[in-house]
Amino acid sequence: MSIVTRFAPSPTGHLHIGGARTAIFSWLLARSEGGRFLLRIEDTDRARSSQEMTDAILDSMRWLGLDWDGEPIFQSDRSEIYNAAIDRMLAEGTAYWCECTPEEVEAMRERARAVGAKPKYDGRCRERGLGPGEGRVVRFKGPLTGKTLYDDLVLGTVAVDNAELDDMILRRPDGSPTYNLAVVVDDNAMGVTHVLRGDDHVNNTPRQILLYRALGFAEPRFGHVPLIHGQDKKKLSKRHGAVSVMEYERAGYLPEALLNYLVRLGWASGDQEIFSREELIALFDTAGFSKSAAAFDQAKLDWLNSHYIQNSAPDRLAPHLGRFLAERGRTGVSLDTLTAIAALYQPRAKTLVEMAEQAEFFVMPDAELEYDEKAVAKFLTPEVKEHLVALRALFATFEPFEARALEAAVQAYLDERELKFKVVAQPIRVAVTGRTFSPGLFETVEVLGRESTLARLDRAIALIG
Ligand code: GLU
Repeated sequence: MSIVTRFAPSPTGHLHIGGARTAIFSWLLARSEGGRFLLRIEDTDRARSSQEMTDAILDSMRWLGLDWDGEPIFQSDRSEIYNAAIDRMLAEGTAYWCECTPEEVEAMRERARAVGAKPKYDGRCRERGLGPGEGRVVRFKGPLTGKTLYDDLVLGTVAVDNAELDDMILRRPDGSPTYNLAVVVDDNAMGVTHVLRGDDHVNNTPRQILLYRALGFAEPRFGHVPLIHGQDKKKLSKRHGAVSVMEYERAGYLPEALLNYLVRLGWASGDQEIFSREELIALFDTAGFSKSAAAFDQAKLDWLNSHYIQNSAPDRLAPHLGRFLAERGRTGVSLDTLTAIAALYQPRAKTLVEMAEQAEFFVMPDAELEYDEKAVAKFLTPEVKEHLVALRALFATFEPFEARALEAAVQAYLDERELKFKVVAQPIRVAVTGRTFSPGLFETVEVLGRESTLARLDRAIALIG
């Protein structure tokens, strides 16, 4: 049997990291087994769903590299299919019309609560043989006794007493199908063999299994992954910081870092922490799921992001860096320059945003470079002026304009005068960067290029006065 999985987001908000994680698991399960990964947009809540959110969710999935097979299906296009299933259940006697009003049902629940029983619909219309009518709903005629159990891929055996479940509504008074019915009809129509989702859905599953049976459909395997918590053990929310995938993209995280991070929240393969996409596809299996809730750990995500920044080819980081510099208003930087800058910052930046922040001085017009006052006071002193003037003259003509050759030339200048490197190192750095920290001095000068180096040395010399 070939595996078919799906991701079924409701487009009522951006793709949050919990949803992304279930999408990743479903995608990995399909890809690791040579199966298919399908997408279904659960947009039946017309008031809260939007095309814009659908597009944003798909963009986040593409950014993470989660490719799906075929076109996404939209629940809003499928009411006839759901209604046909409900009509069949009515004809076969596994569903019935009910005329109880919401107030009456609430009163039943109240009465049950009053005697300490499970609050639920009491089955009043089950055997009345009602037909359609204004304000009526269709309910599932569920089993009253026995248990429904299934073997969860994450949680193991899950069992509920059928007596606990009430006859759920399948069709609302306005004719629209309810969530559980639509999901079962769709998962069956799509040939889904494995449903992986958050454990907030675990209560729906026995109900869905009963619908599978009533409709004569083959049941898929289910797996419910524990929700992601904050460090405070509470359900992850805005309070804990960024929650949508898009926010992480904007904050300068690499997709492979977020993917790797989210996979490890609730899944393991030995004690391995770093997984390439290919490795994940090769290693993924449902035996690696953990039953306990995972806590979001920003420090670990940052560590992984640094790892991926350090280990990416600089020319792959270059377009990302270009995008973040452009956000700071620094556009038109060549890919070669971006690649050279990325290579310098790879060992030190935690995020691409940080990289862009730190590297902005490279690409700003020389006249706009801001000099840190303290750095100027400390290092651009009258004693170093003659050296800066002399080195400016050297840099003006020296060939090749390359880090190691420039370094040797400056060293020769210092040796002749029996001076230490530190006499000129910070003054040059402050002159060309405006501050006291940067990547290697000569690497920085090389990437900056001759023209900017000279222009900035001129500004520094003028600052000394
Ligand atoms: N639309 C549901 C959600 O976003 C999906 C539930 C499922 O995967 O069955 O929670």
